[in-house]
Amino acid sequence: MTELLVQGGYLIASVLFILAIKLLASPRTARQGNLLGALGMLIGVVVTLLHRQIVRYEWIGVGVGVGAALAAWLALTVKMTAMPQMVSLLNGFGGAASALVAGAEAGRALYTGSLADLSFFSLLTIGLSVLIGAVTFTGSLIAFAKLQEVMTGRPIVLPAHHGQSLLLLGVSLAGMGYLLYAQQELGLWVLAAAAAILGVWITLPVGGADMPVIVAFLNSLSGLAAAATGFVLTNYLLIIAGVLVGASGLILTQIMARAMNRSLWNVLFGAVGAQGPAATAEGRTVRSTTAEDVALMLAYAKEVVIIPGYGMAVAQAQHAVKKLTDALEKRGVQVRFAIHPVAGRMPGHMNVLLAEADIPYEKLYEMERINPDMPQVDVALVIGANDVVNPAARTDPHSPLYGMPIIDADKARTVVVLKRSMNPGFAGVENALFYQPNTYMLFGDARKSLEAVVEALKEV
Ligand code: NDP
Repeated sequence: MTELLVQGGYLIASVLFILAIKLLASPRTARQGNLLGALGMLIGVVVTLLHRQIVRYEWIGVGVGVGAALAAWLALTVKMTAMPQMVSLLNGFGGAASALVAGAEAGRALYTGSLADLSFFSLLTIGLSVLIGAVTFTGSLIAFAKLQEVMTGRPIVLPAHHGQSLLLLGVSLAGMGYLLYAQQELGLWVLAAAAAILGVWITLPVGGADMPVIVAFLNSLSGLAAAATGFVLTNYLLIIAGVLVGASGLILTQIMARAMNRSLWNVLFGAVGAQGPAATAEGRTVRSTTAEDVALMLAYAKEVVIIPGYGMAVAQAQHAVKKLTDALEKRGVQVRFAIHPVAGRMPGHMNVLLAEADIPYEKLYEMERINPDMPQVDVALVIGANDVVNPAARTDPHSPLYGMPIIDADKARTVVVLKRSMNPGFAGVENALFYQPNTYMLFGDARKSLEAVVEALKEV
C-alpha cells in the first residue's frame, strides 16, 4: 500500500515537473509553472519520507528545518541582479548532494561488507554520480566566485591549461576504472579528488561575457548528476527530474552559446578574451546631455527603440520606463523594445522586469527581428546596457566580445545612453558606441534620469 502511494506520488510529481517546464517557457505562465514545480517537489519529498527504508526522522527534520529557513531567507533577500550567483550556488549544492548520496551508498556497502557486494551497474552509476557531481560542485563554486567578484571575472589560463584538464579527466577515469574492476575504495577517492580539481580547471578559463554559458552548462551537469544518483538509489522521480534538468539545461546552454555566437567547445576551451589589447578611449570625446534635451529628441521622434540592460535592473527603472513609454505613445511616437538574449544577469532578465511593469509582450523584439530596422530608428535609447550594444563585437578581433551578435544601436540615427559613468560593463571593456558623433550620454541613475525625462516631456 505504501509502495503504491510512493510510486503514485512520484508519478504525479513527474507530471507536475513536466507541466512546470512547459509553463516556464513563457513569461505569462512562468509564475504558475514555478508553483507547479514547487508542488511537485513537495509531493516528491513527502512521499519519499513515507518510504519504508527510512528508519529515523530526526536528522531529516533538522536538515529540512535548516534548509527551509536558509532558502526562505535567501529567496527574500537575494537581489534579482545577484541571481546568477545564486543559481550557481544551487547548481553546485545539487552536484555535491548527488555525489555525497552516491558516496554514501558506497559507504553503506563498505560498512556491511565490501564494494564487491555491489553490482557493476551500481558501481558505474556511483562513479558517474561522483564524477559529474564533483565537477559540478567545484566548477559552480568558481563560477559563483567570479560572478560575485570574489575573484577576477576574466579568464584565467595556466600554462598548458587544457592539457592539464585532459590529464585530470584521465586520472578521474582511471579512478573510475579501478573502482569498477578492482572494487577498491581508493578508486572512488581518486575519482572524487581528480573530478573536484577538474571542475575548477574547466571553469577558470571561462570569463567575461561567456559566464552565462558556463552557468547553464553546470546547471545541466547538476541534473545529470542527480539522474545518475537516481539510478544508484533506483529512484524514478530523481531520474526523471535529473533528466529534465539535464536536458533543459543543455538546451539553455545551446541558446546562450548561440547568443554569444560561440560553440560550447569554444567557450570551454577558447579562453576568449584572455589575451590581446582591446580598443581604448584615448583622444576621443563624449557628448553628455540633459534630461530636457533627451525629452525633446524623443518627443520629435517617429520611432524609438529602447534597449534595456543590466543597469535598468540595478536602478529598478522598469516602472519609469513604462511611464516614459506611455507618455511617448500618447504623442504618437512608436516605441519598441530590443531584447538581447544575455542582457542583464540571467536568461530572460529583461523580459521579467518589463513584464513586472506591465509592458506588453508584443512590444518586445528579439535581436534578430529588430536589427534590420535599426538604421530607420530615430532614437535608440540605451538604458543601462553596455556589452550587448558594443560594436567592438563586430569590428575588433582583440575584444573579448568579438563574434557576439549585438543589438545594432550604433546604426540608429541618434543614440542616447543612460548610465552613471564611463565605467565598462560585465566584460570589462571600452565601448566605442559612447564616442560616436551621434551618441549622447545622459549620466546618472537610470531611474532618476528617466523620471526627469518624463517630467521634462510634460513641458515639450
Ligand atoms: P553590462 O553589464 O554590459 O553593463 C551594464 C551597465 O549598466 C554598466 O555599464 C553600468 O554603467 C550601467 N549601470 C549600472 N547601474 C546603473 C544604474 N543604477 N543606472 C544606470 N546605469 C547603470 O550589461 P548588459 O546588459 O549590456 O550585458 C550583460 C552582460 O552580463 C553581458 O556581458 C553578459 O554576457 C553578462 N552576463 C549575462 C548573464 C545572463 O544570463 N544574461 C549572466 C552573467 C553575465 P555605470 O556603472 O557607468 O552606471
